[in-house]
Amino acid sequence: MKPSPFRYIAPLDLDEALSALAASPDTKVLAGGQSLVPAMNLRLTAPGAIIDINGIPGYDRVTVAGGTATIGMLVRHMDLARPGFDDPLAGALAEISQHVGHLPIRTRGTFVGSLVHADPAAEWCALALATEATVVARSAGGTREIPAAGFFLGPFTTALREDEIVTEVRIPLLGSGTFGFAEIARTAGDFATVAALALVRLDGDAFGEVRIGLAGAESTPSRPSAAETSLAGQRVTTEAIAEAATIAADSLQPIEDAQCSSGYRRHLAKVLVMRALQQAVGRAA
Ligand SMILES: Cc1cc2nc3c(=O)[nH]c(=O)nc-3n(C[C@H](O)[C@H](O)[C@H](O)COP(=O)(O)OP(=O)(O)OC[C@H]3O[C@@H](n4cnc5c(N)ncnc54)[C@H](O)[C@@H]3O)c2cc1C
Repeated sequence: MKPSPFRYIAPLDLDEALSALAASPDTKVLAGGQSLVPAMNLRLTAPGAIIDINGIPGYDRVTVAGGTATIGMLVRHMDLARPGFDDPLAGALAEISQHVGHLPIRTRGTFVGSLVHADPAAEWCALALATEATVVARSAGGTREIPAAGFFLGPFTTALREDEIVTEVRIPLLGSGTFGFAEIARTAGDFATVAALALVRLDGDAFGEVRIGLAGAESTPSRPSAAETSLAGQRVTTEAIAEAATIAADSLQPIEDAQCSSGYRRHLAKVLVMRALQQAVGRAA
């Protein structure tokens, strides 16, 4: 199918893009186009105009300063396979990037586009939640910083306003922390049926800070905080990890769809949280 007719606007700087967005209601931003274009072709969305941000310079890299990695709006999934800085966060980005779509999608699709698209099964959304990332949104009226915890409002729904462009996402480095990631998908390159990211900081032989992000388990990316809390201060044992994974799974309201039942999703969440935690602890050893 072909999209319905639309006006194509290709600004060469951000201010021009923001003015065009403010001036034209019914307009969509085009980044990698890997979600927007299929949706337009299927006529799930029919914007009157699109603003192609790909010609705007200065947003195609990851920069690191003051303990934070900043991912610009034109950083592709593929760029994150080699993020180019030294921190466990770089390892998490590199590993997770391999699970996002297929090679052609990864070379074009953007990290920021994935967050704005807000598919509940998108791996980057779970990473943004677990890392407590900040989404930076610009409009003609100014800049907003939106914590990831308040960004994902529902399936394919975010706190972003229609006149805003996300220019970057800021992610705190993990420092002495480690990560573990586990995913089950129907086929390689498909969205996660369920994926779990565990971020762990050990305090001697006990868990210090633990954060867990889940994709695909619920109608938004989620963070099973009761499971995180259950581990804090506990000695690192297989039993403690298994108990936390059970708490995580029990706390969910898993979605049910043509792919699988909510019961199976709950089971996957338990197994994948356990694997992700084990991996994170193994990396710390
Ligand atoms: C076959 C297939 C398999 C896929 N598998 C996966 C997968 O396994 N995991 C996964 O996470 N994703 C997957 N995707 C989706 C892919 O990751 C997309 O790249 C991503 O969802 C959207 O990024 P994009 O840059 O392509 O955004 P676009 O398609 O250009 O835009 C998506 C949405 O975000 C908005 N938007 C984009 N950038 C901005 C911005 N800077 N400011 C404001 N609004 C913005 C657009 O207006 C649009 O509403 C898959 C896609 C396909 C086609």
